Amino acid sequence: PNITAVDMLHQTVKKYGDYKAMHFYGREFTYKELGQQAGAFASKLQDEGLNKGDRAAIMLPNCPHYVISYYGILQAGGTVTQVNPMLAGPELEHILKDSGAETIVIYKPLLPVLNQIIDQTNVKKVIQVTLGEESSDDDLAVEFTDYLKQATHPPKAVEFDPKEDIAILQYTGGTTGRSKGAMLTHRNIVTNTLQAYEFFKDEIEFGKERYLTVIPLFHVFGMTSCMNLSIYTAAMNILLPKFDLEEVLQTIKDLKPTSFPGVPTMYVAINSHPKAEEYGIDSIKICNSGSAPMPGELMRSFEKKTGAKILEGYGLSEASPITHCNPMFSDRKPGSIGIGVPSTEYKIVDLSDGTKEVPYGETGELIIKGPQVMKGYWNMPEETAETLRDGWLYTGDIARMDQDGYTYIVDRKKDMIIASGYNVYPRDVEEVLYEHPAVQEAVVVGVPDEYRGETVKAVVVLNEGENSSEEDLIRFCRENLAAYKIPRMIDFRDELPKTNVGKILRRKVREELV
Ligand code: ATP
Repeated sequence: PNITAVDMLHQTVKKYGDYKAMHFYGREFTYKELGQQAGAFASKLQDEGLNKGDRAAIMLPNCPHYVISYYGILQAGGTVTQVNPMLAGPELEHILKDSGAETIVIYKPLLPVLNQIIDQTNVKKVIQVTLGEESSDDDLAVEFTDYLKQATHPPKAVEFDPKEDIAILQYTGGTTGRSKGAMLTHRNIVTNTLQAYEFFKDEIEFGKERYLTVIPLFHVFGMTSCMNLSIYTAAMNILLPKFDLEEVLQTIKDLKPTSFPGVPTMYVAINSHPKAEEYGIDSIKICNSGSAPMPGELMRSFEKKTGAKILEGYGLSEASPITHCNPMFSDRKPGSIGIGVPSTEYKIVDLSDGTKEVPYGETGELIIKGPQVMKGYWNMPEETAETLRDGWLYTGDIARMDQDGYTYIVDRKKDMIIASGYNVYPRDVEEVLYEHPAVQEAVVVGVPDEYRGETVKAVVVLNEGENSSEEDLIRFCRENLAAYKIPRMIDFRDELPKTNVGKILRRKVREELV
């Protein structure tokens, strides 16, 4: 479609103005209010000199201000630069410098992080959001609500070319290295929203759905699957700023969401709650799992315990993000990421130069083509040329495909372990560890080894009250895995390092071990 994200919001405001758009700790906003406030924000930004294409950063946890600023910046003609609120000074500095953002909307308690590095950036305007904390008069930053009140007239209309104009600079999570800004156009993000809608439309009723939004909005998964999809379908977005197990369960009980996009570690946590079955989790029609592999055993026990169903999908920042998902439950294949969403082509190609398609069942790199694929990386022509070849996005993920087009992610190219010349995919080993009843979470990495080059090591979190030993787990692996894949060493931890999205930080685990 040739429309912008702003048009998408306005369509919903026009048709469903009085419907609830957001719920935040009891405070509700209608679509009309959301439209008005985003407009006021846009008007103020324009008055202060934001021109078309200028970058403005958002560094907030999930809250209504997020959605208002996001749509306000877009309506003003700007490009939203999404920033993870967990970032430390140097990481924030990289994103602000790289994007050249002159404006930032920031959660007030994060100001000290910004202030450490602000002089090295172009930031001139700081708009702070307080969520219940006292605001004091001597802050340099302007308060979000005051800022909105200062708008005196509607924003000027901006001419867009949805196919070319960059709506979002989506900095990659940096799981594998330096964070890169994926340039997502208006067309990219609107089409991906519609692709998700088309894929699930039998399950979606306009104006009736409720999304439980606890995955962060700054991450592309939350942006599309929670924020943009709920806006397109006039759903109510229940915003939670962080994953707190008790709070999530209570919210499910009280507000009965119909959709709960999440990452596997969230379902792990719910699954390990002794009374999870008492919170009416089965009122959720779909739990969309993405961002990281969903271990088969976890899916089975979560569904048995809660009565809710999980549909695993896949995506990446560079594809706005959704490219694959399992279709509805009757056609899903556990362990796979499903099939391509509408208008998405995909192939598995050889790992050497990526030019030849491999036969069904064989592993290679997953590549993708579709209207949701980014325009390129901001300021990084070489990385862009490497990742986008002839319109195909090289995902860096190793996968295989069956004859029905269902795709199975084997692992990330960069995470593959080479032990005594054998390729070991950490995920194969992790799946087996998850099957052990004492294991709550597991991550497998390669560590340097004099004889083997690399050797397989696992780091495990046990379920509460369990005390399985290293030998127990290794024995279990021996019964279920080829010899070269068996972890030689297993460490136990109370928790694993995770990104703010809940992804296990394999790189960090490896760094700590080496
Ligand atoms: P970076 O790209 O900087 O390393 P990141 O991994 O956080 O950071 P994202 O775009 O957030 O970047 O994540 C995309 C990646 O997440 C995919 O390339 C893939 O490796 C992984 N992923 C997403 N969904 C799944 C899934 N269902 N199963 C396995 N892996 C998945």
